[in-house]
Amino acid sequence: MMTRMTRTLGDERKTAGSRAAVLFLAAGLLCVLSIFRPDPKPPLAIAIGLAAAAFAMAAALHFLPWDRWHPRALLIVVPIAYTVIYLFDTFIGTNPYAYSISFILISIWIGLAQPQYTSLFLSPLTIAAYLLPLMAPGHSSDEVSSVWFMAPVCVVIGELVARAVTEFNKSRSELNTRAKMLSILIRGARSMNTLDTDKVLEGSMDSLIELGFDGAAFNLINEDGQTFRTFTARNLPTDYEQPLHPLTYGITGIVYSNLEPLIIDDYANHPAAVPAIKSAGFVVFVGVPVWAEDKVIGVLLAGRKNKKRISSHDREALERLAAQASGALMNARKFENERRTAQHHAESSMRDPLTGLGNRRQIDATLAKLLPNDAVLMIDLDRFKSVNDTDGHAAGDVLLAKLGGFLKEQMRAEDSAGRYGGEEFLIVLKAIGDDALSAAERIAQAWRDTKPRTTMSIGVAVHRFGAAAEDTVKCADAALYEAKHTGRDRVCEAAK
Ligand code: GH3
Ligand code: MG
Ligand code: MG
Repeated sequence: MMTRMTRTLGDERKTAGSRAAVLFLAAGLLCVLSIFRPDPKPPLAIAIGLAAAAFAMAAALHFLPWDRWHPRALLIVVPIAYTVIYLFDTFIGTNPYAYSISFILISIWIGLAQPQYTSLFLSPLTIAAYLLPLMAPGHSSDEVSSVWFMAPVCVVIGELVARAVTEFNKSRSELNTRAKMLSILIRGARSMNTLDTDKVLEGSMDSLIELGFDGAAFNLINEDGQTFRTFTARNLPTDYEQPLHPLTYGITGIVYSNLEPLIIDDYANHPAAVPAIKSAGFVVFVGVPVWAEDKVIGVLLAGRKNKKRISSHDREALERLAAQASGALMNARKFENERRTAQHHAESSMRDPLTGLGNRRQIDATLAKLLPNDAVLMIDLDRFKSVNDTDGHAAGDVLLAKLGGFLKEQMRAEDSAGRYGGEEFLIVLKAIGDDALSAAERIAQAWRDTKPRTTMSIGVAVHRFGAAAEDTVKCADAALYEAKHTGRDRVCEAAK
């Protein structure tokens, strides 16, 4: 269940009314008790009448809808309370202590229910109310002159209480703001608990809007170290979001070069103001750097269209969001790098470094997926050994690398070529069927056209339904053997 975190001003007015009700209830009880006291007994009718009036007043104060009225409406309690004191003192009689205490209680109530300086402004009324009953015969001049002591005491007590209440309310509202901010940040952090960079940055935007900003952006510094781009933004003009900006542009530029947060309370008149954002009506803006280890990788920006200043809470929230986003961003990047490295390892374990074609492992994987009508081509360079022997092993390597590039160019997207071993290559042409021989002829001719150091021989076998892939490879190998033994630089196809 949600606990109610904030007390409204209406709640406070209701409480003040109830507190005043307690004072009147006490006054009523004192009237009732006075009936039973020894001499001088008060007139019964007056005591009962005054008690009834005080109880009625207490009930009214408790139940009246103070929350719907202006806070100053409660001030009506003060003259009524003074009237009750007057009537009590005049018709029932009090001792000087009880008389003074009742004024102090009213001052405390004023302090609790009203803003600072109310006791001070009400002091003439308090002095008058204090003196009026004492003017009647039977009161000593000492009692009258006690006003010089009591009036300041009442004002000081009222003001001290009001000040304490103000301080208390201030820290309570700070606590509420903080609690709200933390709950938004925690929710934000949860949404950022992902390896998806986009989601991380979107999450920080959501949190900023929820924190009461009208617009926000996450600007990422580009690898070139010269420009930045808006990775994601909320409610900012599209003119601003689209282009690539130089790193000297707008608040982002200042935050990037100063390496610290920047708060602007009058955006329109700031020299770094961006025209599009200015004309969108933004008044205050704040930017904080997003750090990754010891480098600023971005700037988190947020702005408001009203004049409410950027508080320390706002700045703290932004800095926390920037830290959260940076952590998540770094994780996402690390994950991406690891994924790329793993992919690179996986790929290089299947690749022949000299020719850039697939290696034996890759060929085995391709052969495992061989389908009827796919053709297997075994290619072997003619008299390659003599290239090595005449021009050297390095020249042989150059020729093998050239052949690798050549075969890659000859392949359609669905075909694959790999280095089977030494200067032998295996090609799989997918779904080529009876066109395999002419396709192989085309490859041999194209190789000839490159005026190579040495020609090639090709053995072709089309994979038949029900055959094992290794048998098709054997057939292609046998056809290659035939090509070699019938003069080289030619293509032979295995018998169908
Ligand atoms: P044939 O026309 O009968 O195929 O004659 P060939 O000389 O091409 O055949 P052989 O199998 O006798 O020679 C293949 C040579 O390829 C032997 C080996 O030294 C060379 N070779 C194998 N792998 C590499 C390599 O990676 N680089 C270089 N430069 N030569 C290699
Ligand atoms: Mg050879
Ligand atoms: Mg060979």
